[in-house]
Amino acid sequence: MAQAELLPEVTKFVDAPKMVIGGKSVDATSGEMFDVINPATGQVLTQVPRGGALDVDAAVNAAREAHQDRRWAGLRPGKRTEVLYKIGELIKRNISELAQLESLDSGKPVSIASGEMWAAGDVFRYYAGWPTKVFGETNPTDDNMFVYSLREPVGVCGGIIPWNFPLIMAAWKVGPALACGNTVVLKPAEQTPLTAIRLGELCLEAGVPEGVVNVVSGFGHEAGQALAQHGDVDKIAFTGSTEVGRKILHASEGNLKRVTLELGGKSPNIVFSDANMKRAIKGSMNGVFLNSGQVCTAGTRILVERSVHDDFVTSLLDSTAAMKLGDPLKEDTQMGPVVSQEQLERVTGYIEIGRSEGAEVAVGGARATELGDGYFVQPTVFTGVRNDMRIAQEEIFGPVAAVIEVADVDEAIAVANDTIYGLAAAVWTSDVTKAHKVARGIKAGTVWVNTAGNVEPSVSFGGYKQSGFGRELGKHSIDTYTQTKSVWVNLR
Ligand code: ADP
Repeated sequence: MAQAELLPEVTKFVDAPKMVIGGKSVDATSGEMFDVINPATGQVLTQVPRGGALDVDAAVNAAREAHQDRRWAGLRPGKRTEVLYKIGELIKRNISELAQLESLDSGKPVSIASGEMWAAGDVFRYYAGWPTKVFGETNPTDDNMFVYSLREPVGVCGGIIPWNFPLIMAAWKVGPALACGNTVVLKPAEQTPLTAIRLGELCLEAGVPEGVVNVVSGFGHEAGQALAQHGDVDKIAFTGSTEVGRKILHASEGNLKRVTLELGGKSPNIVFSDANMKRAIKGSMNGVFLNSGQVCTAGTRILVERSVHDDFVTSLLDSTAAMKLGDPLKEDTQMGPVVSQEQLERVTGYIEIGRSEGAEVAVGGARATELGDGYFVQPTVFTGVRNDMRIAQEEIFGPVAAVIEVADVDEAIAVANDTIYGLAAAVWTSDVTKAHKVARGIKAGTVWVNTAGNVEPSVSFGGYKQSGFGRELGKHSIDTYTQTKSVWVNLR
């Protein structure tokens, strides 16, 4: 498939991306590289350094040194605000470049990537407000004592991030870590290392001192694991699959580092008969097909109240069939490919599983081969799904929706909660009582009412159950990137 034109700065960056360690652009100690594939063509886009344990060591050492000498934490808080804000501004200024990079690397439509780049910048602008607002307390005791608490950075923070929203995920880790005075080693997903590397460069340009933000590209079982088990890393913030989350937890036990996990989901999207159907259909479609369904909060289980089920499904199928798949670099493309060959096989594999379980493919159901060798999958809707089928229980991470009929509010809540996950849910209704009842009844870290997919830097985000623990964004992130120290002073 012919691709749209690239910006010169994108061509230049893609030519030789390097890791960022101790303020320098470096290759892997081993000299090894690995291929980065363009999912829209299946072709090699570039190569990046294959960082391993030695490189993680170098990055952790650089981050430790920067933490110890307080070159970042020791700055005037207002100065850190200035630098964080500048990172946000640099991202904003380079949106076209970053959006093309993200699109090339991940396959997401460039129009959507542009919005994401803006959102990543927004995370830094939000956290720019925090350095001046994080402080301890004085504690009540008797007259003979003076007790106060210091709010201190955790230290060296590792961020291990997935490929679905590469720059946004990087911002979620780096923004709050820096706001609280920590230093960082970031390990982007092997499928999508480019914008994270570029972020490392932009941090330096914004005035983040050398060694404070380090970016190591590499594989999960090599660089990722080395970071998760490193004895001199104080905290890991991980976003990815529940399966790898478990590995991170095991790997972290050596030095009992702090861990926050943002894992998978199988989010219910509940449509009641009294919903505004036009909005519910549009929202449900976005909820499940955005980013080719590669979204941890994707509303993949569409629960529809029986009385409107058939009408809703008819409209959903029409809208799904009309979606425009194609070159992600073209502005009018609505859906790009999935990220990799592996993901393509996983998604098409699940479509086969759904068929064999007796669910009906009502639209889609195959690879979109007319688009060449790229990893395109047709947006797919299964009907006649039971909640105990694998396609309703397991995270597919692709453009596959499972429509499940429910009788009423109580059944909707019961089915919604019948999952190991608890990341998010959406409910569509015009009855305010019903909306709040469902919001309260659902076990998930986020519930959207008459909307879906919204995320804001000021609103905490995270999972119930096996969707993880710890909260990101908002002031909750500040808690997980600081620790408190109580100081007792004897006045006798
Ligand atoms: P997905 O299933 O969405 O591909 P993963 O959970 O596999 O996501 O990967 C998310 C991140 O975790 C990536 O940066 C990946 O390299 C990393 N990773 C994978 N396996 C491990 C591991 N054993 N230890 C540490 N990090 C890992």
